[in-house]
Amino acid sequence: MVAICAVSLYQSRLDAMARARDTSRNLAIIAERDIERNFELYALSLDAVVDGINDPEVMQSSPRLRREVLFDRAATATYLGSVLVLDAAGDVIIDSGSDVPRKANFADRMYFTVHRDNPNVGVYVSDPYYSRLRGGSPSIALSRRISRPDGSFAGVVMVAIQLDYFHHLFAGLSLGPHGSVALIGRNGAMIMRQPYDVHVIGRNIRNASTFRHFVSEPEGSFSDISTIDGVQRLYYFKNFPHLPLIIMVADAHADIYAAWRRRAITIGSLIAAFAVAFIGLSFALGAQLQRRMRAESELAMLARTDGLTGLNNRRTLGEILEHEWRRARRTRSVFSLLFVDVDQFKAYNDTYGHQAGDDALTAIAKCISENIRQPADSAARYGGEEFVIVLPDTTPERAAPIAEKIRTAISDLGIEHTGSEYGRVTASIGAAAWTPDEDGDVTAVIHAADQALYRAKATGRNKVALFTALPA
Ligand code: GH3
Ligand code: MG
Ligand code: MG
Repeated sequence: MVAICAVSLYQSRLDAMARARDTSRNLAIIAERDIERNFELYALSLDAVVDGINDPEVMQSSPRLRREVLFDRAATATYLGSVLVLDAAGDVIIDSGSDVPRKANFADRMYFTVHRDNPNVGVYVSDPYYSRLRGGSPSIALSRRISRPDGSFAGVVMVAIQLDYFHHLFAGLSLGPHGSVALIGRNGAMIMRQPYDVHVIGRNIRNASTFRHFVSEPEGSFSDISTIDGVQRLYYFKNFPHLPLIIMVADAHADIYAAWRRRAITIGSLIAAFAVAFIGLSFALGAQLQRRMRAESELAMLARTDGLTGLNNRRTLGEILEHEWRRARRTRSVFSLLFVDVDQFKAYNDTYGHQAGDDALTAIAKCISENIRQPADSAARYGGEEFVIVLPDTTPERAAPIAEKIRTAISDLGIEHTGSEYGRVTASIGAAAWTPDEDGDVTAVIHAADQALYRAKATGRNKVALFTALPA
């Protein structure tokens, strides 16, 4: 149960990660398309300006008309600064914002020097900078070189895009509370990042471990810890196919797993509680079962033994005899049976009391069990002061000395008995055996032993008498 729960939680954790990757990818693609479409429009506007400048008719018309021809309506779009034409010295010569160009020189800007020094750059995307004409508004420039017919450098046309454009675009993407999205130049310059922080814009992250991933392949995803805020995130990144830009969308692991963690804690604690309860119940049940088994085996033991002497009781003796008799028949072996009867015991009870009689019986039972040593041998209390001993695989010849040993042991107890001619407690023993050639059943063997006992009693007690032949 615990394993199934663990596997399914692990699976749903993987699912959460896969879902987050998909979401990040979708957001990145939406942002990328928006940026790329706008940049394409701006680049077309720049192309139109370059074409116009190379047309003498346009250049000779009035400044107002020339402005209308060179700058289409795109130049008035939100987030767009002015479109400027710079001459080979970097001075503004045509300004989309005014008929009389504002006085400024941008010969120091990268978007100027790059085109001046490299004729083949095409559309150049600059690093973020602070605009001098628009009160320091953070922007990036899109620029194009103007060449004379002979190929020499004639100047630059550029359009400024306010970083607010990206700021608003990113703010509209729904990310987790600790999510992050960024637009980065392929040279490592941070153009815009959400969550927004002025100090991060323009910073070069070329040396960050995340950036090395960004430039290693066109698009992909990985997990890493941000060098900017130290948060562990799942990064999805994509290099723009036609622009030197990289879009990156990152979701914090904490956000990705938040819902999963809540569910895991609930399910996990329920399962844990269930497991603990299950184990507890199992132990309780096990203990109960063990107690019961012990009680049952004690009961069974009690049912099999005689309460006073601890020997087998008469019922058990019946079972043992039946078993031994069957076995002897099957294996064609001999078994012997001894019948022990305490002498003059009524008189003993009368003289010494019933309690003393019980004690004597206990002592006699002990003598009997101590003198049968084979594991298969067994003794039982037949009733009153009578005991029966079953000796499997024992011939009458071998049974006789055992009987004699028991008789001697009882006599050697030396329990005083004034009513006996021996002055002590003694017992008489009759022995009989079952052999394969005989047909009689178990009761016949007991009967035979009883007859032998009778002879022992009749011939003076405190003796062992063997039964030599079973009655016909
Ligand atoms: P015999 O030598 O001919 O066997 O004489 P006996 O007195 O032993 O024989 P009898 O059968 O006349 O008497 C048996 C006596 O054993 C009767 C009873 O007082 C005594 N007895 C039987 N069972 C118990 C018992 O559980 N406890 C005690 N204390 N005495 C018992
Ligand atoms: Mg008796
Ligand atoms: Mg007796």
